[in-house]
Amino acid sequence: MKDTGKRHVAILGSTGSIGTQALEVIRANRDRFEVEVLTAGSNDELLMAQALEFQPNAVVILDESKYQNLKDRLFPEGIKVYCGAAALSEVVEMEAIDVVLTALVGFAGLQPTLRAIAAGKHIALANKETLVVAGELVTAAAREKGVNIYPVDSEHSAIFQCLMGEFHNPIEKIYLTASGGPFREKSIEELKAVTKAQALKHPNWVMGAKITIDSASLMNKGLEVIEAKWLFALRPEQIDVIVHPQSIIHSIVQFCDGSMKAQMGLPDMKLPIQFALGYPDRTSTDFPRFDFMNYPTLTFEKPRRDVFLNLDLAFRAMERGGNMPCVLNAANEVAVALFLQDEISFMEMPELVGNCMEKIAFLPKPTLADYLECDRETRALATELKRAVKL
Ligand code: NDP
Ligand code: MG
Repeated sequence: MKDTGKRHVAILGSTGSIGTQALEVIRANRDRFEVEVLTAGSNDELLMAQALEFQPNAVVILDESKYQNLKDRLFPEGIKVYCGAAALSEVVEMEAIDVVLTALVGFAGLQPTLRAIAAGKHIALANKETLVVAGELVTAAAREKGVNIYPVDSEHSAIFQCLMGEFHNPIEKIYLTASGGPFREKSIEELKAVTKAQALKHPNWVMGAKITIDSASLMNKGLEVIEAKWLFALRPEQIDVIVHPQSIIHSIVQFCDGSMKAQMGLPDMKLPIQFALGYPDRTSTDFPRFDFMNYPTLTFEKPRRDVFLNLDLAFRAMERGGNMPCVLNAANEVAVALFLQDEISFMEMPELVGNCMEKIAFLPKPTLADYLECDRETRALATELKRAVKL
């Protein structure tokens, strides 16, 4: 990225948990960052307020029924307003943008991310689903274009920070830490009865609904394992997960001499967000500091892959490769949506994902068109399975 002057930022998903925290970072560092683009799914009121405050060049709203309202209010301010999925992909090509923060949720992040890379924009990547689905295509495109992908996910930011000054040294292994979520100590029997409200209460992080459910089911850690494989060019056997309920150590790298580096701090997503946007510089903050005496004990446990079946499914999808992570992701997006609508139970989520992984045809080397089709086909199958079997 340019070393001098302001970074010009596009935030895809500015109304979400990561998006609003990114705007907090920018609000506190107006001399370093300029907002060029803001986008939302359907929350036009918040998008409008953000646009009036940050005066971007353009905004995009996915929901076309919200377009007119936004346009009436923002056009007189000189802010361009667009709507729909195609506009979301096109807007990232805007000349003035240096870095695109992908803070939208799910498979919807894939095409805008690929378009941004093709247009030579650096990526601050929160949308892990993009790398899970098509990590090979995305990282190859970034290499070809000389574009950097800066991780926003706290674990991957931790690994990235541990690697600074070490990029030439081979990684032996990484340990991704996991809080274990709200159900860390529950049995399978107990998990069958957990409610949506319980699953939406994460012990250490406040996040969007989808990732909060993924964190409770450990699918989030499974997606992060696959994300790490692509970000750091690792083999599956080099990635381990360790449960660390205090969420103070954000992840660990082990080098070929056996030395280990960990990155620590209080859990606050603004830290990895601002590191990704401001790399390689750190930005001063007045956030609370970690105090060892408040946490005299940091503990570690082995994840229970026989209970949290999603983590096991994600490892299997990664090891199989090809379109399997795409199937895992699509089935999981459907499963989480059904769980949030009280249509299926907590333990029926991995069942649905596992069924889809068994039934969808394996493609060893999918193209982008194959991924789009695989995503569509898996969603249709997951919906069908739910309807036919009532699981
Ligand atoms: P939220 O649900 O809070 O926000 C999602 C954002 O994307 C909103 O702006 C939403 O708009 C928009 N959006 C939703 N669906 C679409 C769509 N189909 N097309 C375009 N825009 C859409 O999610 P989070 O901020 O929690 O998560 C965003 C990403 O970051 C996810 O991939 C997640 O895994 C990752 N992440 C999040 C962390 C966190 O702490 N929250 C931590 C690490 C990673 P609207 O508001 O209008 O619905
Ligand atoms: Mg994470």
